[in-house]
Amino acid sequence: MLPIYEGLVGKVAVITGGSGVLCQAMAKELARQGMKIAILNRNVENGEKVAEEIIGHGGIAIAVGCDVLKEKHVKEAYKIVKKELGECDLLINGAGGNHPDAITDKEKFEAGDIDDNTVKSFFDLQLNGFDHVFQLNLVGSLIPTQVFAQNMATRGGNVINISSMAAPAPMTKVPAYSAAKAGIDNLTKWLSVHFAEVGIRVNAIAPGFFLTNQNRNLLLNEDGSLSNRAEKIINHTPQRRFGNPEDLLGTLLWLADDNTSGFVTGITVPVDGGFMAYSGV
Ligand code: NAD
Repeated sequence: MLPIYEGLVGKVAVITGGSGVLCQAMAKELARQGMKIAILNRNVENGEKVAEEIIGHGGIAIAVGCDVLKEKHVKEAYKIVKKELGECDLLINGAGGNHPDAITDKEKFEAGDIDDNTVKSFFDLQLNGFDHVFQLNLVGSLIPTQVFAQNMATRGGNVINISSMAAPAPMTKVPAYSAAKAGIDNLTKWLSVHFAEVGIRVNAIAPGFFLTNQNRNLLLNEDGSLSNRAEKIINHTPQRRFGNPEDLLGTLLWLADDNTSGFVTGITVPVDGGFMAYSGV
């Protein structure tokens, strides 16, 4: 069990996508640390399940239905959080994901793919898919930051974005997701500089590979065995396993608490079992 980080006790954490696999683990741990948790999720019922679990363990949590791409929703969520829990001290921009129309079937283009109707090549990708992925991963972090960091500008605060291993080197098949997450790393740095003098720290966590809803189709075959892509990932991960959501929590607490990372801003921390360090040979 992780130690208690005194700097977090009694503060308010807002977590977008907080009922997702990775961010619900974060929500539960931050609640255990004594933070008051607001889960902002498109699907409020899923958020409520996580909030109920937290409350069942003696924590404080609310769930707010909120599409992070709708500024009106986010502004409404801000009012609810302020009324129920107080001003936001920590914003985690966790909502993110992919779209089938922005994913190629093959890792590399082969002659003949253009004429093959059964293969979705780069040339078959749909702008709506690309747009969706850019909106969700990049603009979906921008809007909540605009809304929730406004009050932080007068009292300090903390923003943690969620990047990916697709950011430093793009991953095959997912060009939109890779570019959007590279945008997250870039935006993280930009925001950290912009807000440094008013005491808002902005960092990102880049998870390695975790088996979750968003990538299940890419990583598992229909019979549940590892796909070729998953085998490749494990072979490229020196620790030779997928991450567990709990693997992110130590880094999260360190970044969230001013006492432990008060002079850290503008970085993306890989939590990846060595994936990023490994050249493959
Ligand atoms: P997940 O699909 O379990 O969670 C994503 C959550 O975001 C869901 O609760 C979903 O309802 C919510 N969401 C989606 N669109 C939304 C919207 N418009 N408004 C509000 N909420 C919305 O996925 P996860 O793997 O837990 O992903 C969490 C974050 O981690 C994402 O940003 C993802 O890109 C990133 N990530 C995941 C992995 C991995 O291996 N799973 C690796 C690197 C980065």
